Amino acid sequence: MEPVTVITGGSRGIGAATARRLARAGHHVAFGYRRDHDAAQAVLADIHAAGRRGLAVPADTTDADQVTALFDAAADLGDLTGLVNNAGVTSPIGPFVDLDAGDLRRVVDVNLIGYVLCAQQAARRMSAGGAIVNVSSAAATLGSPGEYVHYAAVKAATDTLTVGLAKELAPRGIRVNAVAPGIIRTDIHAVSGVPDRPDTAAGRIPLGRAGEADEVAAAIAWLLTPDASYTTGTVLRVSGGL
Ligand code: NAP
Repeated sequence: MEPVTVITGGSRGIGAATARRLARAGHHVAFGYRRDHDAAQAVLADIHAAGRRGLAVPADTTDADQVTALFDAAADLGDLTGLVNNAGVTSPIGPFVDLDAGDLRRVVDVNLIGYVLCAQQAARRMSAGGAIVNVSSAAATLGSPGEYVHYAAVKAATDTLTVGLAKELAPRGIRVNAVAPGIIRTDIHAVSGVPDRPDTAAGRIPLGRAGEADEVAAAIAWLLTPDASYTTGTVLRVSGGL
C-alpha cells in the first residue's frame, strides 16, 4: 500500500520541508495551511515533481469543520496512513506577566486543540493502522523562561497527548510519536518578534548552530517508516543538544 500522509501547516518551515521529503520518499501528501497560498502552491508543485499525488487545502486547524474538510479531501489520495501534526504558532517573546490573553488562547487553540482535532480525525480513519507524529518543542522541557512559558507548557501537553494516544491506539496498529525541535531556521521567529533568533541563539546550542527545517523533517520521516515499527510513545529530540 502506498503511504498517504496529511501534514498540517505544510506551506512553510518544518511542514513544507516534511512535505517535500515525504513526497521524495514515496508518500502521497495532502497538506493544510492557513493563508500563504503562493508558498502552498510551490510546495504542491514539488510534490508533483517528485511524481506523487498532492493536495494543498486551506484549513485552519482550530476549526473542526475545516479539519474534517482537510481529511475528507485527503481521502481522494487513498487510505490514510500518516498524520504530521505540525501547524503551530508562538506569540511575541516577553515576560510572562505581560502575556496577552488573546495570544495565550491562540497558542492553546493552534498548538493543542488543533493537534487533538487532527489526531481524532486520523485515528478514526486509519482503519489499517498508521503513524502519527506530533511536532512538539524542546521548550516543553526547557520551560522557555522570559520568552514564552505558556507555549512551552502547551508543547508539554503535546508530549502527554503523544504518550496517551500511543497507548490507546497501539492495539489498532497506530503508532504515535513526537519530534521536539530546538531552534530551527524558519519564519516562526519573526512572528515572535526576533527574526534573527536562530543566529543570536547559536552560542547556547551545544552543536553551535540553529537547525534547518529539513533536519527535523528527516526525523519525522523516519518515524513514519517501517524502520520505526517498534517505536511508539516517544519524544525524539532534534535540538542540537539543547
Ligand atoms: P512556520 O515557519 O511559522 O510555519 C507554520 C506553518 O503552520 C505555516 O505553514 C502556516 O501556514 C501554518 N499554520 C499556522 N497556523 C495555522 C493554523 N491555525 N491552521 C493551519 N495552518 C497553520 O513554523 P515552523 O517553525 O515550521 O513550526 C512548525 C512547528 O514546529 C510548530 O508546531 C512549532 O511550534 C514547532 N517548532 C518550531 C521550532 C522552530 O524553531 N522553528 C522549534 C520548536 C518547535 P500559513 O503560512 O498559511 O499561515
